[in-house]
Amino acid sequence: MGILLKKAAEFIRNSNFTIAFTGAGISVESGIPPFRGELGLWNKYNPEILDLGYYLNHSEDCWVYIREIFYDFFANAHPNKAHLVLAEMEQKGLLKSVITQNIDNLHFEAGNKVVHEFHGNSKKLKCLTCGKVYDANKIDFENLPPRCEADDKILKPDFIFFGEGIPPKAYSNSFSDAEKADVCLIIGSTGEVTPASYVPRAAKEAGATIIEINPEESSFTSSVTDIHLKGKASEIMTELAQELF
Ligand code: NAD
Repeated sequence: MGILLKKAAEFIRNSNFTIAFTGAGISVESGIPPFRGELGLWNKYNPEILDLGYYLNHSEDCWVYIREIFYDFFANAHPNKAHLVLAEMEQKGLLKSVITQNIDNLHFEAGNKVVHEFHGNSKKLKCLTCGKVYDANKIDFENLPPRCEADDKILKPDFIFFGEGIPPKAYSNSFSDAEKADVCLIIGSTGEVTPASYVPRAAKEAGATIIEINPEESSFTSSVTDIHLKGKASEIMTELAQELF
C-alpha cells in the first residue's frame, strides 16, 4: 500500500487538472449509509418513495419517510476526514473540482468551492409548479408535507428522483472537467449508477490516470482503475494528505 500511496501522490502532485468523483461511500464514515448493500437504506425503506411517478401520486405518504431519511437522519451528519482533505487539496491548488453523486451537501460543508452535484442536493426544496427554491434549514418539518408559500403546492427535495434527468449545468460541467482531467480520484462508488458512472470513464478515455479509493472492488476497478487504494475513505485520504501536504 505504501508504494501505491506514494505513486498516487506523485501523480496528483505532477497533475495539471485533478478531479474527484465521489459516491455514497465517502459519506459512510459521516454516518450516512449507502442506498444499496447489506447496510443500505433500501433494506429498510422502499425505493418507490423516490420514484417520481409514485411520489407525484403519493406525496403526502412519501414525505413521512423522506423526512425521516433526509431531514432527521442526514441532518446530523458532518464532513469526515476524506471530505476535509478534498477541501484542503482544492485550497492548495491540487484539485480542480469535485463531481459528486451525493446529495448530502457535505463537500460544500467541508469547504470545497467547485462541486458539481450530479444528483442535486437535499438541503434545498423546490416547488415543482412555480420553481421557488427553499433552504431546508428554514422548513418546519413538523408540518408535513412542506408547502410552497406562494401557491400552497407540495415541495419536493431538490435532488433527482428515479425518472428525473440530471441537472443540465452539473452534467455539462462534470463531463467538461472529465475531458480536461489528467488525474481522476474515484472515492466510494460502485460505478453502477448511470449516467454518473460515465464521468470517470470519460476522464479515462481522455487520458487521465484513475486512482480509486474503496474497501471493495467496484465496476471501475477492473475496467478503468490504474491504482486501487483499498480501504476506507477517511483512512486512505488521511494517508494521502500526509504524502501530499
Ligand atoms: P453505492 O451505494 O452504490 O456504493 C457505495 C460504495 O461505497 C461501495 O462501492 C462501497 O464499497 C463503498 N464504501 C463503503 N464504505 C466505504 C468507505 N468507508 N470508504 C470508501 N468507500 C466505501 O453508492 P453510489 O455508487 O454512490 O450510488 C448510489 C446512489 O445513491 C448515488 O447516486 C447517490 O446519489 C445516492 N446516495 C447518496 C447518499 C449521500 O448523499 N450520502 C447516500 C446514499 C445514496
